[in-house]
Amino acid sequence: MIRSSSRGLRIAVVGGGQLGRMLGLAGIPLGMSFRFLDPSRNCPASAVGDVIEGAYDDELALARLIDGADVATYEFENVPLRTAEFLEGRIAFAPNGRSLAIAQDRIAEKDFFKACGVPVQPYRAVSSDDELRIAVEDVGTPAVLKTRRFGYDGKGQVVVHSAVAAQMAWEKLGKVPCIFEALVAFDREVSLVATRGRRGSFAAHPLTCNAHREGILRVSVAPDGDASLGRAAEMHVRTLAERLGYVGTLAVEFFVLGGSLVANEMAPRVHNSGHWTIEGAVTSQFENHLRAITDLPLGETRARGAAAMVNLIGTVPPIDELVALPGARLHLYGKEPMPGRKLGHVTLTAAEHEDFADALAHLRELTGEPNPVPVA
Ligand code: AMP
Repeated sequence: MIRSSSRGLRIAVVGGGQLGRMLGLAGIPLGMSFRFLDPSRNCPASAVGDVIEGAYDDELALARLIDGADVATYEFENVPLRTAEFLEGRIAFAPNGRSLAIAQDRIAEKDFFKACGVPVQPYRAVSSDDELRIAVEDVGTPAVLKTRRFGYDGKGQVVVHSAVAAQMAWEKLGKVPCIFEALVAFDREVSLVATRGRRGSFAAHPLTCNAHREGILRVSVAPDGDASLGRAAEMHVRTLAERLGYVGTLAVEFFVLGGSLVANEMAPRVHNSGHWTIEGAVTSQFENHLRAITDLPLGETRARGAAAMVNLIGTVPPIDELVALPGARLHLYGKEPMPGRKLGHVTLTAAEHEDFADALAHLRELTGEPNPVPVA
């Protein structure tokens, strides 16, 4: 069991990206200290802790990462399963390797959702030309062909409108194992970020409404106005977390279709759509993840008011204009600009959504982000 001590808890984190950086920012006030494993010494998390420079499957580097640490966690879902096994045998490691294994394979993930009674759209596994033909017959088009593994931010997926297009997409993706799933004509996209503690406690943040473009999250608004949808999402995520024996923060993305939820995917970690909780909730997703893995009581997840988050992707607009927006908080991740790269985000908070409508419109203009969020 993890014990607090006067020296403060030491947290080992696989990955040193912006999620690691924000975990550090949340944990330092709690007296925690951080060590990260990342291939790059100057990774975003280097601002908030020590960095072991190394590959994620380098056992010597992993041993150095956890030397003297109280607990180990990770901040991205493509942690090699061998790394999870290595760590599980040596230190309190959360979330568990089983959650990682399921989240890394889109078919295992959808099968798991189904087994837990969480609604999903029709889908088939595809690993041969024959299976593709059967998948097109069974699921129909329009559909999305996605690689089973290592897809993120819309990479490794193609929307198809015919059997011929499906064959071309399958070739384009290199005939690697794929999932063929129905394209959902959703009304909007939402996500639920929730945390489960070591003794089964559970706390969900309010449902968040998300707008994506080119497969990348652009804007989130919270809380979503549909309370019954929020309760349904919370029930689903709680079931998933319990069945996984999950410890830590978990995010599940859903499509909303005719007032019902269809689960898209889960992330066994803190999530971009939960960044608004830093300023917008009583306890942030980052702090609750740390509380869960260190066996501290979970914090209250209630929203303080209304919040919106806009990602800064590829370039950062003039900082003076961003921080001048009423109710705005700027978060930069210390990354080199590159097209499509998440460089930071801005959160707006106010008593009501209407109170930041103008600031949000201005922020969307500054970031060149036309997508409005279809809030309930
Ligand atoms: P994913 O990598 O599965 O999270 O997909 C990224 C984004 O692509 C989602 O948030 C949706 O906006 C869109 N998308 C992915 N799969 C589907 C689908 N089956 N139907 C409709 N939109 C999808």
